[in-house]
Amino acid sequence: MLMRISRSNDHKKTAVLFVLYMVLAGVCNETLAGSLLVKNAELITVSKGDNAVFRGFMFINSEGRIEQIGPGEPPAELQADEVLDALGKVVAPGFISAHSHIYMSPLRGLGHDENLYGWFRAWNRYLQHTTSEDIYWFTLHGAIDFLRNGITTAYDFTYSGVVREMVDDPKQKRAAGRFKNGPFEENQIKAKTDAGLRFVNSVSMPEIGSDEDVIGRFAALWETYEKSAPDPQFLKLAISGAQQFNPDPRTARLEAAVMKKFGVINQSHFLESPNEVLAQQEKFQWYDDAGVLGPQMIFGHFIHTNDDILSRVVETGSKMSWQPTSNGRLGDGIADVVTYRKMGIPVAVGLDDQSCTDVSDPFQNMRIGLYTMRGIHKNAKALSVHDMLYLHTLGSAEVLGIDEQVGSLEVGKYADFVVVDLRQPDTGPVYDVLASYVLASSLRNLKAVYVGGSKVVQSTKILTFDETRVREEIDRRTNKMRELAQSLDAPG
Ligand SMILES: [Zn+2]
Repeated sequence: MLMRISRSNDHKKTAVLFVLYMVLAGVCNETLAGSLLVKNAELITVSKGDNAVFRGFMFINSEGRIEQIGPGEPPAELQADEVLDALGKVVAPGFISAHSHIYMSPLRGLGHDENLYGWFRAWNRYLQHTTSEDIYWFTLHGAIDFLRNGITTAYDFTYSGVVREMVDDPKQKRAAGRFKNGPFEENQIKAKTDAGLRFVNSVSMPEIGSDEDVIGRFAALWETYEKSAPDPQFLKLAISGAQQFNPDPRTARLEAAVMKKFGVINQSHFLESPNEVLAQQEKFQWYDDAGVLGPQMIFGHFIHTNDDILSRVVETGSKMSWQPTSNGRLGDGIADVVTYRKMGIPVAVGLDDQSCTDVSDPFQNMRIGLYTMRGIHKNAKALSVHDMLYLHTLGSAEVLGIDEQVGSLEVGKYADFVVVDLRQPDTGPVYDVLASYVLASSLRNLKAVYVGGSKVVQSTKILTFDETRVREEIDRRTNKMRELAQSLDAPG
């Protein structure tokens, strides 16, 4: 796979270092495995049982899965390679971002006063100049950032490497564009694996060429990754639906064909921006006609709905994902997930990309979501702290169909968890562990992050990669990208 990374001729030296580095990173990851006993922890399990919060222990086997979890002291006969005494600390499931575009991590602060389409243009000015090797480092940067903030699993909409002009509103036809030299998809998968992040890899289906070409590109990725017993961090392949951005129903038909043929889930940005709402809503019928509605279909954002759309979503068991911080930043509007949930629509929560959420902070995301819902319903009971945490962990896993692997601290699942110290910096005495965790903790209280029982973050330091090296690569590559963008903008 390393040999398939394309590069321009003047980067041979960097490429050799790059390959060497990735080999070393792989070796480093392997040395982290071993059994682990966590004891004296304030466990927030987010499991469905009654006893979801208790002081107790958790035993993680060498496969990185939870083998035992329970209240009180661990049984005396339980022996582990490593013991983590978490006395006084909260241990909770790693967060799941059910909607992310990780490669956009080095593009923050752009289009800071623009709505969705103006913001698209602000970052596309730079992104169009990236190579597939740049995108490896961009994705690595974003995946490390996610882990450092306690997000252990992400649904990642990958960059297809297509260059195209950006349109201004949902009614305009989007240009088909052209592919840059890849491999883009492979590099993004590799970057997330190298960082230590677990992920659902969601790929777009650019409508370049015939239907067979479009479906064939998905099939090639399917053959390489889904069928070849992939790394445990690679949870599944998915489709990045795109009907919102395309003005004819071919998009829905193609997505339906791939969903049926490969049995994959589809998350489609839909009813996100507040402009041309009627034109956007009309496209829902195209999805319905194509037959994509059902439990495999997730509508991303799903803000500007109407009664007909909602009732079809309920009838078919379709789902949605909610991005509270991103929707606020871009002035999209507010998805009324309290009402959606009452109707029976399953809701997942995402941090979207780091260019429109800017700080991929799940604690902040939970509170923005919680306060927005309580505000619009004028009711502090509209959404509970328990439900908000559930939505950002197990609820997201259920919507994505990965809840047998991740989302809660339960026997058989991967031991992906965070260690939070509410007394450092001191948030005061703890009366209710769950309430203090959701309402009073911040990234400063996040002390460690584990994926599959291996520590990947200690305080703010990532252990899977040399961050100085990542920063050097990002600075060098974004400087070049900015120079190219500026030279194109220059008159003459
Ligand atoms: Zn998005």
